[in-house]
Amino acid sequence: MENKKVVFIHCKTYQKDEIEQATQQLFTELGGLEQYVKPGQKVLLKVNLLMKAPPEAAVTTHPALVEAVIEQIQALGAKVIIADSSGGPFTKSWLKGIYQESGMTEVAARTGAELNWNFEQQEFSYPEGKILKQITLAQVIKEADLIISIAKLKTHGFTIYTGAVKNLFGTIPGLLKADYHLRLADVRDFSDMLVDVAQFVKPELSIMDAVVAMEGPGPSAGIPRQVGFLAASANPHALDLACCYLIGLTPERVFTLQKAQERGLIPGSAEELDIRGITKEEFKPIPFQVPATSRSRHIPIPLPPRLDDFFYKMLRPRPVFIHEKCVGCGICARNCPPKCIEMMESKPYADLTRCIRCFCCQELCPEQAVEIKRNKLSKLIFR
Ligand code: SF4
Ligand code: SF4
Repeated sequence: MENKKVVFIHCKTYQKDEIEQATQQLFTELGGLEQYVKPGQKVLLKVNLLMKAPPEAAVTTHPALVEAVIEQIQALGAKVIIADSSGGPFTKSWLKGIYQESGMTEVAARTGAELNWNFEQQEFSYPEGKILKQITLAQVIKEADLIISIAKLKTHGFTIYTGAVKNLFGTIPGLLKADYHLRLADVRDFSDMLVDVAQFVKPELSIMDAVVAMEGPGPSAGIPRQVGFLAASANPHALDLACCYLIGLTPERVFTLQKAQERGLIPGSAEELDIRGITKEEFKPIPFQVPATSRSRHIPIPLPPRLDDFFYKMLRPRPVFIHEKCVGCGICARNCPPKCIEMMESKPYADLTRCIRCFCCQELCPEQAVEIKRNKLSKLIFR
C-alpha cells in the first residue's frame, strides 16, 4: 500500500496572511517541504487552469495559494514553472488569456516564477500502464526535476468529482485529450486511464485547493462553495479518497477511487487513511451538492454487461444547449471528441446518436449555455 498520510489545514479565505500561514502549516505537518524540494531544482507546479475564468469563479486553482506555494519553494533555493494544458488547444494564444484571467500572469510577475510557453509534446513508452501502453505528455512535464500538483476540489459531470488525479489529465496536451475521451467513452475505462496517467506523471506532492470548492454542475458551471481547507498528500489517490469523503462521495460512485483501490494504491475506506492536522470529529462529510447526472448514477446493482449497457443507454443523461445563452463561439463544437456538434446559424446542435456523453461541451462552454439533463425515467429511478 502506498502512502496513506493526508494532511488537512483549516483555511477559510485566500487573504494573503491566512493562506501563507495555512500553506506553511500544511508543509510542516507533512514533515517539511525540504523533504521534497532541494536547492537548484526546477519545480513544476501543475495547477488547474481548465478555462479562462477569474479566481472567484472557483474553476481554477486560486492564484493566492499558488503564490504562497511558490514563495515556500523559492525560499528553499529552487525555481518554479507554472504549467497546465487546459481544455482547448495547447497554444500560446489560448494559454495567454487563461494565464491572464486566472491571475497566474500576475503571480509570475510578482514572484519571478516562470509561466510555461513550451507547447511541444513527447511520447513515452509505458509498458506498466494498464490502459495506456504509450503516453503523450506536454514536454515540459518530464523536463522538471519535481512535480507538485495543486488541484481544485470540484464536481464533474462525467467523472462526478475532479481533484488530485483528474488534475493530472491536464499534462496531456490540448486536443489530444479528446482522443482519450473517444477511445474510452465508458467512465470506468476513462477513470482507469486517469489512474495510469497519475501513476506515470507521479507528482512528488499533491495539494488540494478546497478553501473555496465547486459544487453542483461542475467543473465550470457549478457554484463556488466555501469548504475551508487546504489538504495535501504524497499520494494523490489518498488525497482524493479523503476529499471525496469530506464531500460525501464514496468509492462506489467515484471510479478513479475504485480503480486505485483495485491496484492497491489506497485502502478500502477513508477511515483507514492516516489523517493529520485536524481531529477525527472535524474529518466528517459535509452537505455538498454533487451532479445527479454521472454515469455512476445508473442501476446500482451488478448486471451482465449487455443489460448494464441497455440500462445505461436508456438512463444516461444528455447535453442540452441553451441557445438563449449561447454566443456562438463554437468552442463546444471544436472540442467535441466525436465531432457530433454542428453549428447552424451560430448555434450548436448535437447528434445525440453519436454523442458519447463526455460532457466536454458543458465543461468548456464559457457562457454556461450547456446543461446536462436526465430523462423522466432516470429521474423516477434515481430521484
Ligand atoms: S454552447 Fe457555449 S461553447 Fe457552444 S457555441 Fe454556445 S457559447 Fe460557445
Ligand atoms: S455533444 Fe457534448 S457530451 Fe456529446 S460527445 Fe460532444 S462534447 Fe461530449
